[in-house]
Amino acid sequence: MSAVGLREAGAALAAESARFAGLGWMRGTSGNLSMTLGRDPLRLAVTVSGVDKGELGADDVVVVDAAGAAVPDQPNPASRPSAEAGLHARIAEVSGAGAVVHVHMMAPVLAAQRWPDGVVLRDLEMLKGLGRGAHGDVMTVPVVPNSQDMSVLGAAFEAGFDPATPALIVARHGVYVWGEDLRQARHRTECLEWLLRFALETD
Ligand SMILES: [Zn+2]
Repeated sequence: MSAVGLREAGAALAAESARFAGLGWMRGTSGNLSMTLGRDPLRLAVTVSGVDKGELGADDVVVVDAAGAAVPDQPNPASRPSAEAGLHARIAEVSGAGAVVHVHMMAPVLAAQRWPDGVVLRDLEMLKGLGRGAHGDVMTVPVVPNSQDMSVLGAAFEAGFDPATPALIVARHGVYVWGEDLRQARHRTECLEWLLRFALETD
């Protein structure tokens, strides 16, 4: 992708990050968002590490490879990707996603605490927001234990991957949600948060 294209991706990621930060889902410097730039080889634009996600600019983006490592040839080679970029890349590779959202929102962490084997959601109109049926459909959002090793998290994700369920909860940590593009990933994230809150408050 050209530098201009990368800057456009950075601007889109910054705008989405500000939106999520405003919802209280990227507190401190937590969370990160990515967009798939290319697939052969896999390249992702990921928000930089260690910066307030409500204050990102279009240049606060780093290009990573399939392992989540920064590639040497990019506009800001000194920028650091989050270690979590490795899981973004694994999700993009396995699911074919065009964008991955990772936020430290409370609802999935509470839900994983209550249902460590997976969060079952059914019979709710908002399931349509994740491409599922409002009736006669059961979506189980996988829960994996937290780890600082992205290859461990990636293997756990892949073991439980269902192409019809575009979300993964990491216990005592946060959630990953993905989609064809950043907008779809955002919509799914918002709908999932609603669903998890419903599940928690009606259990
Ligand atoms: Zn995280």
